[in-house]
Amino acid sequence: MHRVWAEIDKSAVRHNLAAIRQRVGDTRVMAVLKANAYGHGAVEMAKLLAAEGVDAIGVGDSGEALELRDAGITTPILIVGGIIPGEMPRVVANEIEVNLHTVQMAEELNAEAAKQQRSVRVHLKVDTGMGRLGMQPFEAVPFLHNLRRLRNLELVGMCTHFSLPYERNPAFTTRQIEHFNLAVEVAERLGYTGLTLHSSSSLAVFGRDDAYFNMVRTGVALWGLLPGDEHGNAEQLKPALQLKSRVLFLKDVPEGTPIGYSRTYYTPAPARIATLPVGYNDGYRTSLSNRAEVLLRGVRCPVVGRVSMDYTTVDVSLVPDAAVGDEVTLIGRDGEEEITLAEVARWADSIPYEILCGLGRRVARVYI
Ligand SMILES: *Cc1c(COP(=O)(O)O)cnc(C)c1O
Repeated sequence: MHRVWAEIDKSAVRHNLAAIRQRVGDTRVMAVLKANAYGHGAVEMAKLLAAEGVDAIGVGDSGEALELRDAGITTPILIVGGIIPGEMPRVVANEIEVNLHTVQMAEELNAEAAKQQRSVRVHLKVDTGMGRLGMQPFEAVPFLHNLRRLRNLELVGMCTHFSLPYERNPAFTTRQIEHFNLAVEVAERLGYTGLTLHSSSSLAVFGRDDAYFNMVRTGVALWGLLPGDEHGNAEQLKPALQLKSRVLFLKDVPEGTPIGYSRTYYTPAPARIATLPVGYNDGYRTSLSNRAEVLLRGVRCPVVGRVSMDYTTVDVSLVPDAAVGDEVTLIGRDGEEEITLAEVARWADSIPYEILCGLGRRVARVYI
C-alpha cells in the first residue's frame, strides 16, 4: 500500500504508439525515454516499447543510456542532446549513439573509440533555428570532410530539432526544414548516403506532416499528451499516468482557522480539512498552493494553504462521508470528473513536461 503513487496504464502507452505509427506510416519511431521516461519509469517503458518494436530509444545522458543497457535493452540508444568528454569512455564501451556538434568533439570521441578499438555510431546535429545544440548548416561541409579521417566513427544519421512547441509559426518551421535539407544535400554530395534523418518531436509529428524524414523522435505523445495542441489531435491519445494519494488525516475546524505554513489560508467558514501525504518532494509543487484541486470520491476539492515538503491540505467539506484512507486523485479521472495534467501544469505556472519530470523518487510507480 502506497501513500502516493503514479498509476501507469501500459495499454495507453501501446495505444499512443499505435496512434503515432498510424500518423507517420513507415517512418521509423524513436521512443524518447529521457528523464526516467518523463517520470513513467525508463526501464519499464523501454521494455514495453522494445517489445512493441520501436526502432530506437532516445535518452538524455550516458547514465540514462547505461541504466537501459544494464536492464538488458538491446535496442539502439541515442543520447538526443550532447555529451561531455567525460561521458565518452562509457558511451564507446556500451555502443551508445551520440550526436556530434563540433570537429573537436568528433576527434575526441574518435580517439576514445580508437583506444578501445571500437567504432561509434554518430549522428550529425544541425542547428536550424533551435539555437541550443548542433552546428550551423554551412559548418557541415568542413565537418564532413574532417570526418573522413576519423576511422572509428561511423556516421549513421543527421538530425535537427524544431523550436515549434507552443509557438506556431509554420513559416519558421518550414525554414528549419529547408536548412536541414541543405545540410542533408551536402552530406549526400559528399557520399554519405543511407543516413537516418530525423527532426520531429511529438508536436511536429501531430502538427505537420512534411518533416518526418525517416525517423521521428517522440516522447510526450507516448504518454498521451500533446501540450498546446490546437488541432484536436490529442483526442487520438490516452494519458497514461494518474497521480494518486490517500487521506491521512481529517479534521473539522471552525471559521477563521489558519491552515499551513505562513497562514496563507484561513477557513472562511467551518470546514472539513483533509491532509494528504504528498508534497513538493513528490513533485506536487508549492505553486499549487491555494490553486489546485484534487478529486475525492469523484468531487473536486480545493487545495488550501501551502503545499509543504510531505503534506498537502485540502478542503473536503463537499464530501461529508470522506474517510481516512480514501483514495485521492491529483492527476487523472475519478468517476465523471477528471483533473488533467495540463490543468495541474497551468495551476503550477509550469508545463506538463516539467510536472511529469518532477515526480519525485518517493512516488511509487504502479503499472496496470
Ligand atoms: C525531448 C526531445 C524529444 C522528444 O520531445 P517530445 O516533445 O516529448 O516528443 C525529441 N528530440 C529531442 C532532441 C529532445 O530533446
